[in-house]
Amino acid sequence: MKEKLKDLCNRAEQAFSKVIDSQKLEELRIEFLGAKSEIQAFQKSIASLTKEEKPVLGKLINESRKFIEEKFNTIQEVIAQKALEKELKEENIDISLPGILNNLRGAKHPLTLITQEIVSIFESMGFQEMDSPEVETEYYNFTGLNTPESHPARDEQDTFYTNINSHVVMRSHVSPFQVRVLEKEKLPLRVISHGRVYRNEEINPRKLPFFHQLEILCVDENITFNNLKWTLQNFFNQFFNAEIPIRLRPDFFPFTEPSAEVDAQCVFCKGKGCQTCGYKGWLELLGCGLVDPNVLEMSNIDTKKYTGFAAGLGIERFAMLKYGISDIRDFYSGDIRFLNQFSKV
Ligand SMILES: [Zn+2]
Repeated sequence: MKEKLKDLCNRAEQAFSKVIDSQKLEELRIEFLGAKSEIQAFQKSIASLTKEEKPVLGKLINESRKFIEEKFNTIQEVIAQKALEKELKEENIDISLPGILNNLRGAKHPLTLITQEIVSIFESMGFQEMDSPEVETEYYNFTGLNTPESHPARDEQDTFYTNINSHVVMRSHVSPFQVRVLEKEKLPLRVISHGRVYRNEEINPRKLPFFHQLEILCVDENITFNNLKWTLQNFFNQFFNAEIPIRLRPDFFPFTEPSAEVDAQCVFCKGKGCQTCGYKGWLELLGCGLVDPNVLEMSNIDTKKYTGFAAGLGIERFAMLKYGISDIRDFYSGDIRFLNQFSKV
C-alpha cells in the first residue's frame, strides 16, 4: 500500500504541475480528490485495516491526501493570479495608482488661504486677531466711526438694513470692530479683524453685494504716519515676496484724519503698465489713516496721550492679484474645477 500511495502522490504532483487553465484543474481535482478518486478509496479502506495497521497506514493515507490537496491549492492560486493579471491588462487597470476617492479630499478656499496668509504676516508684527459681529447697530457701523447722520453711506441705497426702525444693519465694513475694541480693551493695542461685509452693489466681475475685508488698528503713545507707512510697507514686501515701491495719495474717510489711499507699484509689469493695473503702473491696494481723534474721544480715550492708525483692505482684491483671477464671482461659483486649482497651494 505504501508503494501505491507513493505512486499516486507522484502521479498527482506531475499532473498538477502541467495544468495551465482552471478547466483542466477542475478535471484533475475530480480525478485525484473527488468522491471516486483513488485517495477516497484508500480512505474508505481504513475501516477494514487491522488494529496494528491502522495507526501507520491510516496516517500515511491522510498525509498523502494532504500532499495532493496542497499541490492542488498551490496550482489553483497560481492560475487565479494569472487570470487576474490578464484581466487587469485587458481592462488597462493599474492597481498601483491611488484610489479615486483620494482626489476628493477637501481643500481650503482661496479666500481662506489669503486671509490666513495676511493674518499671519500681521501677527508676526504683534497684531492680535479678534472677531466682530456681522449684524451691527447704526451706532457701531456709522456714528461711533464719526460718520454724520447725513452721510450718503447711511442711505438704504448703499447699506442693507435688517430693520430700518431699530437702526440695525448688515455691517458695510469691518471698521465697527475698532469702536468695540476701543470701548473694551486696555491701551496700547494692536489688533486685526476680518470677515464678510455687505453693500448694496450691482453684481459684475469686480463687485458683489458682499465681500471680505480685513482691518488693522494700532493705538499707542507717539504713533505717527511713519509707523503706519512702515507697517504697510513691511506687509506688502512679505505678501508679494519682494521690495514693492508704494505711494500714498490723500483721501477722505470719516474715521481717519489724515486719510490716504495706498498704491503699490504693479507687481505684474513692474510699473510699465499692463491690463491688470489699467496701464497705470500702480495698483490701488487699501485705504488707511491716523485714527480721527473724534473716534478715540467717543470711546473716552485721552487724545493728548494716545494716537493711532488704521488700515483696511479687500481680501478678494488681494486674492485676485495673487492668483491672477479676473472675475470676483469665481470665488462664489462653487465650481470644483476653479477650486481644485488651490487644493495644493
Ligand atoms: Zn501692471
